[in-house]
Amino acid sequence: QAKHCCHGSAQIFSDLMSTRFDAASSIEARLKRALSQGGLVLHYQPVIDMKSRRLTSVEALLRLTTEDGKLLGPDQFVPIAESAGLIAPLGEWVAAEACRQHEEWRRQGLPPVTIAINVSPLQFRQRGFATRLTDIILDSTVEPGRIEVEVTESTLMDNLEDAVEILERIRSCGIRIALDDFGTGYSSLSRLSHLPLDKLKVDQSFVRRLDTDRASRAITGAIITLGRTLNLEVVGEGIESELALDYLQEHGCNQAQGFFISRPLAASIFAEWYRARFTAAPAMY
Ligand code: C2E
Ligand code: MG
Ligand code: MG
Ligand code: MG
Repeated sequence: QAKHCCHGSAQIFSDLMSTRFDAASSIEARLKRALSQGGLVLHYQPVIDMKSRRLTSVEALLRLTTEDGKLLGPDQFVPIAESAGLIAPLGEWVAAEACRQHEEWRRQGLPPVTIAINVSPLQFRQRGFATRLTDIILDSTVEPGRIEVEVTESTLMDNLEDAVEILERIRSCGIRIALDDFGTGYSSLSRLSHLPLDKLKVDQSFVRRLDTDRASRAITGAIITLGRTLNLEVVGEGIESELALDYLQEHGCNQAQGFFISRPLAASIFAEWYRARFTAAPAMY
């Protein structure tokens, strides 16, 4: 304690900043290496249909392996990729890898799976984004309707006219569009109705508080109604309890995603999970 008093807070701050800087530059180096030599992986989190409890799609979630074999989550390296100018190649890797994995699962005899990929706001706004993305998907053997692109509200609202045009170009190839983390941004009803969307994902912050918070229950109910009114599929994500799952189902939510159903899984583990559930007659939930 006495030692802490000798350090000025400015000193502590600058120590902290330089430690952060070192960590960031080593992650940046790791990322560059991963892009050229391997070290990135996608995990896949199942999304199920509320009524039938069957798989509807998986969301591909990106991880970066470290030297000691640990996995870093996107929150730890996506912002670094964005500021280092690596977000476009990273996003393109994700799209190509999702297609490759889809093809591999097909070769292994799995039924075709719909894979959702996440797109960062910065990636979305880069010139040529739509063309590069659709090229990757159309160059593969994957039916474009089996790929879903997840974008957030803030990505679109920044420049709505351009965003609509980009989404329309992607969608005209048959690729599906989902609005991720919905409810925390500022999209008005009228703007939302003009967006070319297939799916709305209710933000986790509401879903995770369904058990304890009345306001979250009310907001979730309203979002589901809104989505259904606009003829969109509505997904509840971040479902961690049976109570949350039941609440969403009772309020007309179409699809469910969350640790209560399954954590994100490595590709081979997902294949086992899917085989077990696909061949088993009764639903598990
Ligand atoms: P997201 O797209 O909203 O993805 C859902 C996140 O919530 C995932 O975290 C998932 O593991 C986590 N999650 C799912 N169900 C539950 C649950 O029941 N409880 C809790 N506590 N968490 C749950 P993850 O994998 O760490 O990804 C975080 C975010 O990073 C994603 O949020 C997405 O915005 C971004 N991201 C993931 N993959 C990519 C990618 O390939 N490219 C880009 N640009 N961003 C990505
Ligand atoms: Mg997502
Ligand atoms: Mg093709
Ligand atoms: Mg989300």
